[in-house]
Amino acid sequence: MTFEIGSTAFPPELTPLLLDWYSRSARELPWRRNPTPYQEWVSEIMLQQTRVETVKPYFERFLAALPDVDALADAPDELLLKLWEGLGYYSRARNLRKAARMIRDEFGGRFPDTVEELLKLPGIGDYTAGAIASIAFERPEPAVDGNVLRVAARLLKQSAPDKSVVREALRPLYPATRRGDFTQSLMELGALVCLPKTPRCEGCPVAGLCRARADGSMGEYPAKTPKPVRRIEKWTVLLLISEGRIALRRRPETGLLAGLPEFPMLPGERTAAEVAAELAEKKFAPGEPEALPAAKHIFSHLEWRMTGFLCRCKERPGDLLWVTPEELRRDYALPSAFSAYRPTAERCGEEGSLSPLAETPPRSRTRKARRS
Ligand code: SF4
Repeated sequence: MTFEIGSTAFPPELTPLLLDWYSRSARELPWRRNPTPYQEWVSEIMLQQTRVETVKPYFERFLAALPDVDALADAPDELLLKLWEGLGYYSRARNLRKAARMIRDEFGGRFPDTVEELLKLPGIGDYTAGAIASIAFERPEPAVDGNVLRVAARLLKQSAPDKSVVREALRPLYPATRRGDFTQSLMELGALVCLPKTPRCEGCPVAGLCRARADGSMGEYPAKTPKPVRRIEKWTVLLLISEGRIALRRRPETGLLAGLPEFPMLPGERTAAEVAAELAEKKFAPGEPEALPAAKHIFSHLEWRMTGFLCRCKERPGDLLWVTPEELRRDYALPSAFSAYRPTAERCGEEGSLSPLAETPPRSRTRKARRS
């Protein structure tokens, strides 16, 4: 076994052990059924920051609506965002379409098949380029994501291995065939066996090669990095209802949740009296604002703490969009940051003047997406 202490050289025995294990243990996933470059690409973009179980139905819907690069390149904004609704990180969807247009217009419809070409597409970095090149095109290109990095850190007993170093150390291990399977076997080991908190070493196909396992120090690798401090923003969400219609507005074209619809919001935590005064000043002729439960939503770098008010308005001034509950469901990709308030808005839109608080009020909830 070539395994120098302190080096980043992986033992070559890793390859047959992982391939054998992968043949027996690989999960059946929709994007593995009939893998094409397009499917592999879409699945990898969806899986960024998002769990496999969450992605499955999104992937099926996306492929049914936009089955190939041309369909994606021509997809209208609302359809694209509706298909992505709830996945978050909407710039990923817009980058997918931008890249599809590049493939159609600059690559003549040919899907790029090398890491160098793939890196030219928006939204594709080293990891995704390696995954597509190896899984869809059988090239000996490693794809090092957080899962693979954790496996490498434990195998090599390195506290903070560098992604590019691990990538180069894995390259010589690539077999002559089943290169895509080798890439996926490493990802799968990190997702199913070498888990962040409780690695399942007793069922690990490479336990005999693992330095951390040898002295029981698995929990120390990789070294924990301090969690980023999230900025907290307070917002007051307004569910403005008028004659069965719900008010929405568009977010700015750049920045967080760019261009997406949202319920109107006021900065800060407002009281009912402040909300009533603000709406009266803007000529909404509001009834008494009804307080809704607080909610929060966590973005990667930011936390929204929200209070909410329901206001039935007699007038519809300003440049808001007034939509029916059916139109909201069918045509608008409302970000999941508003999922605590959405059911109340839809119900009140449908029920007219009934109190929203008589039944199933929204609960304070938190959502944080991650991949596993
Ligand atoms: Fe991870 Fe344990 Fe396998 Fe080492 S033996 S790679 S720590 S699961």
